[in-house]
Parts: sequence; C-alpha cells; structure tokens
Amino acid sequence: MFERFLGGKTAVVTGSNSGIGLGIAHELARAGADLVLNSFTDTPQDHALAESLAAEHGVKVRYMQADMSKGEECRALIEAAGACDILVNNAGIQHVAPIPDFPAERWDAIIAINLSSAFHATAAALPMMRRAGWGRVINIASAHGLTASEYKSAYVAAKHGIVGLTKVTALETAKEPITCNAICPGYVLTPIVEKQIPDQMKTHNMSRDDVIAKVMLQRQPSGQFATVEQMGGTAVFLCSPAAAQITGTTISVDGGWTAL
Ligand code: NAD
Repeated sequence: MFERFLGGKTAVVTGSNSGIGLGIAHELARAGADLVLNSFTDTPQDHALAESLAAEHGVKVRYMQADMSKGEECRALIEAAGACDILVNNAGIQHVAPIPDFPAERWDAIIAINLSSAFHATAAALPMMRRAGWGRVINIASAHGLTASEYKSAYVAAKHGIVGLTKVTALETAKEPITCNAICPGYVLTPIVEKQIPDQMKTHNMSRDDVIAKVMLQRQPSGQFATVEQMGGTAVFLCSPAAAQITGTTISVDGGWTAL
C-alpha cells in the first residue's frame, strides 16, 4: 500500500521475535524502516530471525536482548538502539485467574511488562525523537484496553493503563511532529492466544474448534481472528503523513468487538 517512505527511519519493536510484534516489524521493514527486534531471550534463532528480515526487506535489522519487566533494561534498549524514530511498545504476557486466586507475582509481572515497560521506553525515546524532529509512539493495547473480561484483572488493568499513557504522551508532544496512539487488537491467533486454548478446552469441556468459535470469537462479531499483517498495516498507516494529526487515540482492529 505504501512505498518505502520509512527509509532512513529506525523502528524499535519490543517483544518482536513472535506474533504481533514480528508482524509489525515485517510491515515497517517492508515500508523501508531499519529495525531493532527485541525479546528477553538471546538465542541463535533470535539473531537468525533478524538476518532473515534484513535479507527479505533490504533493511538493517539488529536483534537486542532486553527484559521488558525491568525498567532499566527498557531504557538501556532504547539507548543502545542509538536512534528510535518509531517506538512500538508491544511486549506483553497474559495470566487468567479469578482475583482471589490471582498470583501476586503474575500481577506484578503483567503490570511491569504490559504497562510500565511502555513508560520507560517512551521516556528514553522521546528525547531522541525530539532531536530527530519526528517520532511515532505506537502502543499495542487491546480490546481489553476498552472493555473487560472476567479473570483477566491484571491484563485489563494494564491495557486500560496503556490507553491512558497513550493520551498523556500525545498531550505532552502535541505541538511537535510526534504522535502517540494505541492499536487495540481483538483476538489474533498468536502464541499468547494459542496458550489459552488447552485451558479453555478443559474449563468448557469443548473441542479446540468450539473454544475458538464459541468462546474466543464469540465477542468478535466478524467471527474471524484479526491478523498480524493487519496490525502491521495499521502501524505503517500511523507512521504515514495521512496520520500526522491522529494522536492520543485508539484504533480498534477487532472485527467489531467494541461495537457490541
Ligand atoms: P506473543 O506471545 O506472540 O508475543 C509476545 C512477545 O512479547 C514475544 O515476542 C515475547 O518474547 C515478548 N515478551 C514477553 N515477555 C517479555 C519480556 N519480559 N521482555 C521482552 N519481551 C517479552 O503474543 P502476541 O499476541 O503477539 O502479543 C503481542 C502484544 O499484543 C501483547 O502486548 C498483547 O497483549 C497484545 N495483544 C494480543 C492479542 C491477541 O489476540 N494475540 C490481542 C490484543 C492485544
């Protein structure tokens, strides 16, 4: 859709060796951006992934290990990147349990990775964007940033929190050529969702297909998963000149979930 208009820009995508982050990385690279891929692991596969994206899209791609549950590592990642014109705060985890049984350690981890990491990375990236005279902060929230589901207290709290952080970041940069928005995906079939299917099959005594159709996609009126390519295309759009006045808002890519 867009030519290589992001040539010369560097995008840092947190949590991007899998799923939505990797899908967004592909689309930003297709539009010409150099990339920093990230996760908490540091395996030969992680570095091979960076090499394969570089070869596929003809851009520079570095893989940098950093644990997004630790504020200082979030900030160090951005500093080590050396440039950060586009920051995609995507790293995220999930845990599902009723509030009285919800392990406090899982609450803390979800708030740290899904919410606080975006604060730390944004704090480190904004001065670089200001020096460069252009910037895009794209936070990956969720339909759960706008609505709730039972048993997902930490996730829903973190995702509502990131929508709030998005608005504040937008206000603090409103007079500059920097925008900040949140993409709110509905269900996308990535590892984070795949991991929930066996538990749901047990809880509901259903087959895999029934869990997908009757539990997961029951709130997604389209009856289809959204795709990582659609998240990537939305991120590229937010970097385009057409989106220069879009800031402080949420874009739902959820098959109609939040229209219900
Ligand atoms: P995923 O499990 O495929 O990806 C999560 C990524 O985060 C992985 O690359 C993982 O390595 C990374 N990560 C996890 N902990 C980390 C840490 N401590 N430090 C650095 N990286 C870490 O899942 P996904 O579906 O691609 O999720 C990506 C984002 O999209 C998350 O924020 C998630 O909440 C959000 N989201 C997903 C869906 C969905 O249906 N899949 C829906 C709405 C929002």
